[in-house]
Amino acid sequence: MEHFIEESEINKTSSDLNNPEDLADKEFISKRVSEIKNTIQELYKELDEITSKCNHSDGHDIRLITTDRNKNSSSLLRICKICKSPIGYPSKEEADEWQKS
Ligand SMILES: [Zn+2]
Repeated sequence: MEHFIEESEINKTSSDLNNPEDLADKEFISKRVSEIKNTIQELYKELDEITSKCNHSDGHDIRLITTDRNKNSSSLLRICKICKSPIGYPSKEEADEWQKS
């Protein structure tokens, strides 16, 4: 019984060692994903700080903005010309104007 356990442990180890590149890829992907997510969070924090200093005083453009990650839905929004933040919904006149352009 003891021997059987030992052998299965060896098989498990050697199957991992058969694909050293695969293993390295997984480690690389996992590490890189964490790094990228951290960077994104830091950038979002900076974005929040920066856009909170804008008083959106220089007018806005009308843009169709994707509102979820799967790009299934989008909304027509007023976007600040300076900081590019969504600052509300367009009036009916603005929406009509956007449709024409
Ligand atoms: Zn702004």
